[in-house]
Amino acid sequence: MKTIIEPFRIKSVEPIRMTTREERCLYLKEAGYNLFKIPSERVLIDLLTDSGTGAMSSLQWAGIMRGDESYAGAPSFFRFLHVVQEMTGIEHVLPTHQGRASERILFELLCGPGHEGEGRIVPNNAHFDTTRANIEHHGTKAIDLLTPEGESPSTLAPFKGNMDVGKLEALLAERADDVPVVMVTITSNSNGGQPVSLENLRAVRAVCDKYGKLMFLDACRFAENAWFIKQREPGHEKRDVRDIVRETFDLCDGATVSAKKDGIVNIGGILLIRDEALFEQASNLLILTEGYITYGGLAGRDLEAMAQGFTEVLEEDYLRYRIRSTEYVGERLLAGGVSIVQPPGGHAIYIDAEALCPQIPKHEFPGQAATCAFYEHGGIRSCEIGSVMMGDAARMELIRLAIPRRVYTQSHMDYVIETILEVKEYADTLPGYRIVEEPAALRHFTAAFEPIR
Ligand SMILES: *Cc1c(COP(=O)(O)O)cnc(C)c1O
Repeated sequence: MKTIIEPFRIKSVEPIRMTTREERCLYLKEAGYNLFKIPSERVLIDLLTDSGTGAMSSLQWAGIMRGDESYAGAPSFFRFLHVVQEMTGIEHVLPTHQGRASERILFELLCGPGHEGEGRIVPNNAHFDTTRANIEHHGTKAIDLLTPEGESPSTLAPFKGNMDVGKLEALLAERADDVPVVMVTITSNSNGGQPVSLENLRAVRAVCDKYGKLMFLDACRFAENAWFIKQREPGHEKRDVRDIVRETFDLCDGATVSAKKDGIVNIGGILLIRDEALFEQASNLLILTEGYITYGGLAGRDLEAMAQGFTEVLEEDYLRYRIRSTEYVGERLLAGGVSIVQPPGGHAIYIDAEALCPQIPKHEFPGQAATCAFYEHGGIRSCEIGSVMMGDAARMELIRLAIPRRVYTQSHMDYVIETILEVKEYADTLPGYRIVEEPAALRHFTAAFEPIR
């Protein structure tokens, strides 16, 4: 038996409102050709993000009812604490409202007041945008150290999220005093959801030890990363995925986590810190802006949902289905002649918009053109990751199809594939776009566009 089925059945359903192409053309025009501005009821399949969009299980919903809302010391907190300590082996655990709250606290402590005037640098395999923003907020430089194969979209390699350890060593040899912490993001969201190997994590650890540096993980997709290690890294095929996760966390001094990804919850995050003194300082900042240390800006019910989510995400049937279903979309698109970043990552497929719409120059936003066409043709909402989002810094013009956890069935994904392959047939006739309204910053969220006919 080779077919991998969804390892769940459906207990509660949410209707999708069907729309016609004519309606969608109108909706898109009304939204200034910006998919962020389309109300979600007007979307058939929403692949904008995999963050906070997962489906909770019946046990998570049961946890929501069981949640104890005491201000301090609620049993819901202790259930959450126990699950996270067991999973990571790290004693000091703070709940936060989402990943960026953990980042805000960590980087305020490592780069904020008291560190002014120091020429600080935080290296990472590839910074996620909120991580970079929280670091740069303190005048610290955030730099990415991916390997050359990681930066090449068509190179097939098993661990394209790896950090370039040679570059890290060279940086530390020259400027160790300027580096407060070395971050590694697993899996690398900014690089197509590509995984990082255990061998690479051990090598980063060794360099950090040599220079006496803290090593922190941005561990939003630690379970997906562990599954890739089990599948792809020699010697780990037979290991329990929980063991791999534990070894991953054993290598670090702490981690920031958004539970909206591998926690399979709609809101929540964690900050893990091994060092007692740093943990004390983080607890004080948490109380200042998030909430008391046993709820950290969440409700007791959210802690219950996280505790259960972090338990379910480590089930191998779930991970097999999760990674395979993303890979399936990638394989079918490739077979249909669509260029994607290879190999498929854990949580998303990235389509090369310049290959799809070769007639549209970069400054007329080929990714925007294709995301609009996917919406008009099939009601699919995807996300442009190219010149609209990143301006002149965009290395590639990509369209991200981020896949929510446990939400869509295979026939939904077949529909997505069919839509994209049909659009491909006329993609070389799609118009480019121009921006007609532009905010001062983060323009991809609110800018208005119009097609250049
Ligand atoms: C989502 C994400 C974050 C930020 O988490 P939020 O919960 O959105 O604040 C940080 N790093 C990575 C790699 C992420 O994917």
